[in-house]
Amino acid sequence: MNPNQTVEDESQPSNSTVARRIQRLSLHLTPLPPLQPSPQLNMLTCAKASKLEVDHGPLSSYMRGKHREIQEKIFEFFNSRPDLQTPIEISMDEHRELCMRQLMGLVREAKIKPFRYVVEDPAKYFAITEAVGSVDMSLGIKFGVQYSLWGGSVLNLGTKKHRDKYFEGIDNLDYPGCFAMTELHHGSNVQGLQTTATFDPITDEFIIDTPNDGAIKWWIGNAAVHGKFATVFARLILPTHDSKGVSDMGVHAFIVPIRDLKTNQTLPGIEIHDCGHKVGLNGVDNGALRFSSVRIPRDNLLNRFGDVSRDGKYTSSLPTINKRFAATLGELVGGRVGLAYASVGVLKISVTIAVRYSLLRQQFGPPKQPEVYILDYQSHQHKLMPMLASTYAFHFATQYLVEKYSEMKKTHDEQLVGDVHALSAGLKSYVTSYTAKSLSACREACGGHGYAAVNRFGSLRNDHDIFQTFEGDNTVLLQQVAGDLLKQYKDKFQGGPLSVTWNYLRESMNTYLSQPNPVTARWESTDHLRDPKFQLDAFRYRTSRLLQSVAARLRKHSKTLGSFGAWNRCLNHLLTLAESHIESVILAKFIDAVQNCPDARSRAALKLVCDLYALDRIWKDIGTYRNVDYVAPNKAKAIHKLTEYLSFQVRNIAGELIDAFDLPPYVTRAPIAMQSEAYAQYTQRVGF
Ligand SMILES: Cc1cc2nc3c(=O)[nH]c(=O)nc-3n(C[C@H](O)[C@H](O)[C@H](O)COP(=O)(O)OP(=O)(O)OC[C@H]3O[C@@H](n4cnc5c(N)ncnc54)[C@H](O)[C@@H]3O)c2cc1C
Repeated sequence: MNPNQTVEDESQPSNSTVARRIQRLSLHLTPLPPLQPSPQLNMLTCAKASKLEVDHGPLSSYMRGKHREIQEKIFEFFNSRPDLQTPIEISMDEHRELCMRQLMGLVREAKIKPFRYVVEDPAKYFAITEAVGSVDMSLGIKFGVQYSLWGGSVLNLGTKKHRDKYFEGIDNLDYPGCFAMTELHHGSNVQGLQTTATFDPITDEFIIDTPNDGAIKWWIGNAAVHGKFATVFARLILPTHDSKGVSDMGVHAFIVPIRDLKTNQTLPGIEIHDCGHKVGLNGVDNGALRFSSVRIPRDNLLNRFGDVSRDGKYTSSLPTINKRFAATLGELVGGRVGLAYASVGVLKISVTIAVRYSLLRQQFGPPKQPEVYILDYQSHQHKLMPMLASTYAFHFATQYLVEKYSEMKKTHDEQLVGDVHALSAGLKSYVTSYTAKSLSACREACGGHGYAAVNRFGSLRNDHDIFQTFEGDNTVLLQQVAGDLLKQYKDKFQGGPLSVTWNYLRESMNTYLSQPNPVTARWESTDHLRDPKFQLDAFRYRTSRLLQSVAARLRKHSKTLGSFGAWNRCLNHLLTLAESHIESVILAKFIDAVQNCPDARSRAALKLVCDLYALDRIWKDIGTYRNVDYVAPNKAKAIHKLTEYLSFQVRNIAGELIDAFDLPPYVTRAPIAMQSEAYAQYTQRVGF
């Protein structure tokens, strides 16, 4: 469209033009009543096709489930406390103090005691995490450091004596703490950590040491200002009576007090430095820790998977260092589950702001007619509607992850432990990478207004960006998923069991690996393309082929390059495999959620959104499907056309779909929706 040919002839404004301009300007300056749910937009001619009837109430109840109440309590608390709301402009030091006050307020005033839910009801705990992260992401992360990382390590790696001693202090924040794993020279490679904890049988103590600068604990949340304790990951060194004199038992976790509980002074032998101003999350005080002969009682070893007796003997139910290490890290997946869940929360906020803006913002239009809502542009629908569909898809997938995690915590079933480990690694990396990209797309979808700090995209983007790195770098985590798939694949051919999420490999590997059916490759009816069986088959077909081909390549290359070299040679292929598998899991869970929805209208809306998610993904990878003739050219065209049509249909219920996220105005307060008092305040502040 030529921008010069728009709405009116600029040189001779008509009366109606003038009136409309005045009205538009007044919209910018006058506080308006809050946005009504399901705004009744005047659809353009092109947007007047049959519209699904959807009521956001039942849909929202289905989405939110039973933990809506606690989230509302949190939102109400912060809504009633403007002094605890994070302002747009704030210094790092002030933000850190505010973040601590927010956490204290949550626990001591709103009386949200999260720690017991870590054990008793993880789903409730994660719902709290999502809500506090929506208030301020720094708060969400500080909360996670306290309860998932520091608290979680005490609960999951320690034994009863640790729980009895620390539970209350962690819960009520008398014992703010840190999780000190990463070192300057080793982040992803945790087995390479160098900090040592040497047992001294004379005094019955461990001596914690930082042997070189590369072993300084780095990036440790809560360390720079507020932490009183740290769970320190260090190699356990035992004295022996042989010629070596010591024995390295591998990485273990120890509780190390770092500051005096009363005076907050750093304790002897400990040096703490501030990691300083970061790209985001400046409400979290990350610091560096160096230990010089710091003595702690033997009891401070978190001894669930390995213990040292008074006379220096090591015992463990697990036979090897590798098994102990895997068990230790396996217990820490809760942090990763929380991040995946919180990342979907960020995506919901971002999509809500962008869609709401696009439902209200008008630019250009046919001659002599009203300007068009930007969400009526096909390109804008293409940007935002598949993203809205993905948000729904991720919502149900992460809910499933939380269910499996809760089940694992109850049963300790070994197969489930492996499944949750791979699923949490896959979903955390896939979802956080997607959200990070979407934040930029949403900012862009809101034009220049998206760039004003007051509209939140800057802080959301900067705060969320690191989700891709901490709790396991995404590229590293996806490799764990691929490794797990290959193991399952190998087991399948040896007749071993397959874990729940991977079941489809057993059921239908042979079907997926046979040549595509030339008849179905041509089917292009809407009913067929919207059939969940076709969609799931297409996703699983892709994963199965990737799995089979990468297994063959690895076998071939390992003969000449060794296993490490072969893995590296196939690394991109492996990452694609992992992503493809995770997409299959996401779609399967979305389809289940559609089928299980009790309300007919909500079910119809979800089915529409699910179809868009599935077909958009297939279309984005159409080259892969065409290459092997899984999809004939006419079918590819039909998929594309249907995807555009579904985007348009979803656009027609986009208002209801974002309302069903049920985010309070406090969270999606970005004034670019031009509906809030905040916008008027903002325009006044910048000089109008
Ligand atoms: C704000 C913030 C808060 C943090 N909080 C904590 C905390 O409280 N406690 C704590 O212990 N740690 C914390 N961390 C550390 C964080 O967990 C690590 O940064 C993370 O694990 C990644 O390690 P790294 O920084 O050494 O990156 P590296 O491992 O050096 O990765 C650098 C790059 O190399 C790539 N790479 C690495 N290995 C491979 C491989 N095998 N294959 C392919 N590519 C690879 C990665 O993809 C990445 O792009 C925090 C970090 C930040 C920034």
